[in-house]
Amino acid sequence: MSNCAIVGINWGDEGKGRMVDLLTCDYDVVVRYQGGGNAGHTVVNELGKFALHLLPSGIFRKDVANVLGNGVALDCESLWTEMEDVRSKGVSITPENLKISDRASLLLPWHRELDGLEEARLADKKYGSTKQGIAPFYSDKFQKKTVMAGELLYPDKLWEHLSGILEWKNLTLEKVYGAKPYTMDDLKAWVANYGEKIKPFVCDTGAFLRQAVSDGKNVLFEAQLGSLRDLDYGIYPYTTSSNPIAAYAPVGSGLPTARLDKIVGVVKAYSSCVGEGPFTCEWFGGEAEKLREAGGEYGAKTGRPRRVGPIDIVATRYGIQCQGATDIALTKLDVLSYLDKIPVCAHYTLNGQQTDDFPFPAVLPDAKPVVEYLDGWNCDISGARKWEDLPAAARKYVEYVEAQIGCRITYVSVGPERDAIILR
Ligand code: GDP
Repeated sequence: MSNCAIVGINWGDEGKGRMVDLLTCDYDVVVRYQGGGNAGHTVVNELGKFALHLLPSGIFRKDVANVLGNGVALDCESLWTEMEDVRSKGVSITPENLKISDRASLLLPWHRELDGLEEARLADKKYGSTKQGIAPFYSDKFQKKTVMAGELLYPDKLWEHLSGILEWKNLTLEKVYGAKPYTMDDLKAWVANYGEKIKPFVCDTGAFLRQAVSDGKNVLFEAQLGSLRDLDYGIYPYTTSSNPIAAYAPVGSGLPTARLDKIVGVVKAYSSCVGEGPFTCEWFGGEAEKLREAGGEYGAKTGRPRRVGPIDIVATRYGIQCQGATDIALTKLDVLSYLDKIPVCAHYTLNGQQTDDFPFPAVLPDAKPVVEYLDGWNCDISGARKWEDLPAAARKYVEYVEAQIGCRITYVSVGPERDAIILR
């Protein structure tokens, strides 16, 4: 039996879905432990191209059980739309291969609405929310003002619980934002429409996972976003509202005492960032446009153009420390093939001093990148499958990054397809 977490080291979109899809062949259970429908994993396999938001990326493997743990923001509407989409491409989703924690809290209709209302109120100071209701959801969860998926199985208790929350929530909607209040009929219609659809998948996933572990099964924990978006360790307040770091995987999955044997940190060969917040190594203008085009850097959920730049060694080293990564998967190396010289943000300067420490969020906007250049390789490397297949300059780049970040790069990805990987 072994446990592994696959996590993002940077701002998200590092290619975690692609790595989970690849590594699930060695695992029996894949668990999502935090986040909601706000970000997306893209998976390309023999069935097609999929943008997953909530479904664990093990859903494509026949004998893998997929779990949405208690730490996720359970958005029944998004989840159902996604299930329908994935099913329409021939993937079977049943209560056998998808299990939703009865302790996962429900993202309610007003969470999405409140997200939009608050971003509009903030206007040019907005956090860059994807408006999927994630921040209002998690703040309500911590205030104990939402309901758990398991309550769908006990309708009388659900209505009583929801009516108390409704009264409280309408105060905020009406008095703070001047928005229309919800009624109990609205909630009943929503539960009838979406809650009922996911109800057959709701169960005691903690018990399921404990049994799986005692049967010697291998469990893979799948994160959304990356270290720098972690609520506690990221670039607050431009973070997500949950903890994508590996340390949260046991808590958010339903196996609170689990020990992680392996933590695969996913790092992209360059940097990208969706949304607002300081992004020290950011490129602008024509060179950013070329990199964005080469890497197809548009949000999986929103289609928004991502901000891009060279790999950021300072941020990556910090991200690895937050995760305790045992192995690194370096993705999208092929995207850099068009560059004559490969830029690297090797250090920062802060207040005129060079530093290798990732700054405290309040002063991070003052940091400036120190960019160095390595030789490019100027040829297509997407067909490489062995370390020796890579040109010397590409190998040198990987070795340079590995030495700088202080963690072994075990996997080098050279394309989105499952087999476009080099195992070192
Ligand atoms: P995630 O949220 O961390 O899973 O990342 P995204 O799905 O947002 O972004 C990764 C994107 O890069 C997806 O479109 C993948 O298909 C693609 N991708 C992953 N690895 C590689 C790679 O090595 N090369 C190329 N060209 N594309 C890749």
